[in-house]
Amino acid sequence: MNEARAWKGPILDGHVHMGDLGEREPLLGIMDATGADRMALVSIQDPRAGAGLGPSLVAKALHPDRFYVFAGPNHAQHLSGGAVVTPSLAAQAQRFARIGCDGMKLLEGKPTSRREVDVPITDPYFAEFWECVEGLGTPLIWHVGDPETFWDPARIPGWARDNQWGYGPEDVALEVLYTEVDAVLARHPRLRVAFAHFYFLSADLDRAGRFLDDHPTVSFDLAPGIEMLYNMSEEPVRAREFFIRYADRIVFGTDIWSGMALEEARHRAGMVHRWLVTEDEFRVSPNADYLLGPPEDGIIRGMALPDDVLERVFCRNFERFAGVRPRPLDAAGAADVCDEIARAAQGLSGTPTSETQAGQAADRLRAVASD
Ligand SMILES: [Zn+2]
Repeated sequence: MNEARAWKGPILDGHVHMGDLGEREPLLGIMDATGADRMALVSIQDPRAGAGLGPSLVAKALHPDRFYVFAGPNHAQHLSGGAVVTPSLAAQAQRFARIGCDGMKLLEGKPTSRREVDVPITDPYFAEFWECVEGLGTPLIWHVGDPETFWDPARIPGWARDNQWGYGPEDVALEVLYTEVDAVLARHPRLRVAFAHFYFLSADLDRAGRFLDDHPTVSFDLAPGIEMLYNMSEEPVRAREFFIRYADRIVFGTDIWSGMALEEARHRAGMVHRWLVTEDEFRVSPNADYLLGPPEDGIIRGMALPDDVLERVFCRNFERFAGVRPRPLDAAGAADVCDEIARAAQGLSGTPTSETQAGQAADRLRAVASD
């Protein structure tokens, strides 16, 4: 019996981060420990380091039934002022679809990303991209915003302040980000989006419901933000009603990363399971990872959702979003993509391609392709 697993049906973790190439085996161990038979690797790129996407593609190539890959775009050309040439964002989206990526992960809309690439998503820079992914029907897992307390020095959680995650007047405001998303969705009403972390609307379920009502092709994922569990635990009956009403629009996820300790991964996934499945009142484990904060931060009240709701949240909604099985990967094509990422990183930062994750992943992918 797997103690992390309160739900006995299939589990598809829709929000997981892959680190270095060497973390593939540990991640398989985490899958077993948390009961997930499939995972979606949400793979933001670090264009200077040539990191972020390559190891996810390798994991998918070696375990084609277990990993979906959502690829992040590469902004090297923009960041270098055009000195480094990369395909346009739309061309990148087409390429990812062609090689068998299952969707795209966007962090454009998180204030820290906005510091990096200071271009609103409504800017012409993104126009062709939105048109392209809407036309292709690409599933997008999109992080927009952050917990509202991050903008308020008096309310920001200690663990977030310690990481310097607070935002000030120089940063983009949360409501500005929401307004930009509304504008993009108004222009592209068929965009298929799972907004990560419940779109940071867990403290305002009326607004969350209106947003889902207004945009029939979007859903929310449940990757913590621990504030999501605390907010909804304040009115657990209402939260339960929301989940039942929007049972087709909520996707399970944990935000587990491959480098975390097995015990921490078990606590993290087990906490979300327990919240969804049981009617327990409980606190974060003292052994949980630091992003969940200490136990004294709050009480979590389980919702004991009905089985048909749990089945949709734990797996069917994601399957409808991105397929019952991960798409087959063209390993040779993926190797070419990784080579380009490695070259862009070398152009941006001078890191030799062979020292980048992407360069090393390209070698692994070529080996798989020639098998
Ligand atoms: Zn994440």
